Amino acid sequence: MKDSNCIFCKISGGEIPSKTIYEDEEFRVILDISPATKGHALILPKEHYANIYEMPEETAAHVMKLARKLAVHMKETLKCDGLNIMQNNGEAAGQTVFHFHMHLIPRYKQDGNEDKLCWNHLELSEEEFQAIHQKLKL
Ligand code: 5GP
Ligand code: ZN
Repeated sequence: MKDSNCIFCKISGGEIPSKTIYEDEEFRVILDISPATKGHALILPKEHYANIYEMPEETAAHVMKLARKLAVHMKETLKCDGLNIMQNNGEAAGQTVFHFHMHLIPRYKQDGNEDKLCWNHLELSEEEFQAIHQKLKL
């Protein structure tokens, strides 16, 4: 299913041109228009899923398989020193485009983002840890 108001539906479907680095029946991988580093790419499924919660398990597995293939490709071609794989769900998590996408961000020593792709650390009490542990156990 496509969403006629969704920019990533238009890009993944080829209606809006993009700098595509990989394409198959299920996905298009493009260069991010506002990259964190040189080579920052986005994996877009061609089907519209707003986020990971909506995505079928099988598609999610294919995303990860493709992420690995691209990670190896980036390491070989860009000679990057590291790679971040990020995927935001919901405004609170920093999602700005509501069509699932996975960020592949090649990292280079002293790329200027050393202090950016991280978070503050909470100090939880043992009771707080236990409460969250019980809640999350599957
Ligand atoms: P989010 O914050 O939702 O995880 O990431 C959205 C990403 O999409 C951002 O990194 C942003 O630069 C990128 N982006 C937004 N619009 C476009 C576009 O029209 N073309 C491309 N190539 N990237 C886009
Ligand atoms: Zn879409």
